[in-house]
Amino acid sequence: MQLTVLGRYGAYPAAGGACSGYLLQDGDTNLLLDCGSGIVSRLQNFCSWTNLSAIVITHFHADHYLDLYPLRYALQLSKFNKRKDKLLVLVPPGGDIELTRIFSNEESKKSFADPFLFREIGSEEERIGSLQLNFLQVNHPVPTYAVKVRNNNCQLVYTSDTSFHGQLIDFSKGSSLLLAESTLRNEDEDRSELTGHLTAGQAGELASIAGVKKLMLTHFWPEFSLEQYAKEAGETYGKEVIIAEEGESYWID
Ligand SMILES: [Zn+2]
Ligand SMILES: [Zn+2]
Repeated sequence: MQLTVLGRYGAYPAAGGACSGYLLQDGDTNLLLDCGSGIVSRLQNFCSWTNLSAIVITHFHADHYLDLYPLRYALQLSKFNKRKDKLLVLVPPGGDIELTRIFSNEESKKSFADPFLFREIGSEEERIGSLQLNFLQVNHPVPTYAVKVRNNNCQLVYTSDTSFHGQLIDFSKGSSLLLAESTLRNEDEDRSELTGHLTAGQAGELASIAGVKKLMLTHFWPEFSLEQYAKEAGETYGKEVIIAEEGESYWID
């Protein structure tokens, strides 16, 4: 399974960067985890929308879903879009209502939703091509889901946005890669519960207790030092951590 980091910033992107978006590719299966601002542009370097198998939107904060709006136009208007089916988008409960809230009339709402097939995330397992997906609701101000993605060889867990959550330990066990948000620095720990975000130190602690093979940090605040994130997570993880690099692909096994 290959992971390509399309965007790694929380809230708003750094200059030239993008918000949350991660492409997982396994044979013919192309799964996009989150679709924040800048992701549609980046996606085209690696996968056409025609070949996307599904998208998971982990929660309704703009840095995780905003590019569904330009994607809708790509699907409807691009002469390069050859897909015959609707694009499956797994969303938190009430997602289709949330996404169409910005439109003032029923016709616009219908038109936006037309190229997509929205399905609510639940407790049951989803199968997307060769990948199995499981979800865990985590701690964030709006309903938010961590995602576990497995094929026959490996497992990735993406925390989405969350403060430290005990159930994430069991959920992450056996992972080849834990893709963990680390929005905060250790010195910001008093804001962790309130904002629903991990410090870098907590991300490392989670990876250490869960015993994951590798830890990749992401969802960075654009103004904070990447070196500091890596150092603080490394201290609690006890191993070297990977800083998510936009445009880079990583083989997971
Ligand atoms: Zn976020
Ligand atoms: Zn969020």
